[in-house]
Amino acid sequence: MYDIALIMGDGIGPEISESAVSVLEIINDRFKLKFSINRVEAGDKALNETGYALPAETLSSIKKSTACLKAPVGESASDVIVFLRRSLNLYANVRPIKSYPNMSALKNNIDFVIVRENTEDLYIGNEFDINDDASIAIRLISKKASKQIASYACNTAKYRNILNKVTCVHKSNVMKKTDGLFLKTCEMVSKTYSNIKFESMYVDACAMNIIRNPEKFDVIVTTNMFGDILSDEAAQISGSLGIAPSANIGDKYAIFEPIHGAAFDIAGKKIANPISIILSIKMMLDWIGIKYNDNEASAVSKVVENAVYNTINKNIKTKDIGGNYTTNEFTKEVINRIQLMQ
Ligand code: ATP
Repeated sequence: MYDIALIMGDGIGPEISESAVSVLEIINDRFKLKFSINRVEAGDKALNETGYALPAETLSSIKKSTACLKAPVGESASDVIVFLRRSLNLYANVRPIKSYPNMSALKNNIDFVIVRENTEDLYIGNEFDINDDASIAIRLISKKASKQIASYACNTAKYRNILNKVTCVHKSNVMKKTDGLFLKTCEMVSKTYSNIKFESMYVDACAMNIIRNPEKFDVIVTTNMFGDILSDEAAQISGSLGIAPSANIGDKYAIFEPIHGAAFDIAGKKIANPISIILSIKMMLDWIGIKYNDNEASAVSKVVENAVYNTINKNIKTKDIGGNYTTNEFTKEVINRIQLMQ
């Protein structure tokens, strides 16, 4: 039995969380694999109700669980996920970008992964005013964290075994100290992998190439803020932010979540795309499969992904990707396919 702490979140968070619960329940029904789901609160609603965006019970529940599945939270995101990434040392933020059929996407045939350093950079939140008219933010890049993320990226390229290539994305011509260190460290780590090709690219060139020729990427390794921005761009090019999952991985803990925010503009309209959280479950199953040597979890991961693929392939889609199915109707279609799949 794997214990899952489920952060229900804000905006469309509770709607897509219910989709996630339905998927975990059908897995419980159909397979030997079993999950217990503990719904926990964090985010704007928790802040209003308890005075804390991340209540102590939520943090303790995450620490006691096998993994955490998290729906997006609203304005208090930095007090929730940015805090969790740093305090639980979830150093790798893994964001697969993949084409699915029948998308009104800018580009098809995309299959790459953004591996983003998750604990440093400008996101450490160390900002202060120097006078009434100017403020300063501190950018932290360390050799230790750069080494850790570079190894993670090289291992990801090796495991994928597609192009066996790592592209280090940076701006070392301007940020000579911080990105200079990041680039040098990534290159050094890549040399310890005999079959990995290493290339480097400025972040502005990368933003352009993600649109121009995304098929040339395999694994992108980058710093925290660049990774945040590039992954939203890449997700939209492959179809919608609503289909993009992510994983925050550390040596002890892991949190799986959609890359998008709380999408307040569509909250309550029943049109949110639940694929992002369903594919986050797929990533969680992959992680459980490797960490606990659980072959069934790895197999069920494929079942979940195929169910999503087959659903979209039949042109069953939510509004953001050109369909008219509601969140619940779409989720039911995926569940039916999980139920029927061999
Ligand atoms: P954050 O800064 O917290 O990541 P954001 O300001 O980038 O948030 P999002 O909440 O991610 O904004 O939403 C960006 C756009 O993508 C919105 O128009 C939103 O409706 C759309 N969107 C995001 N997630 C989904 C989803 N699951 N289904 C459909 N549309 C979505």
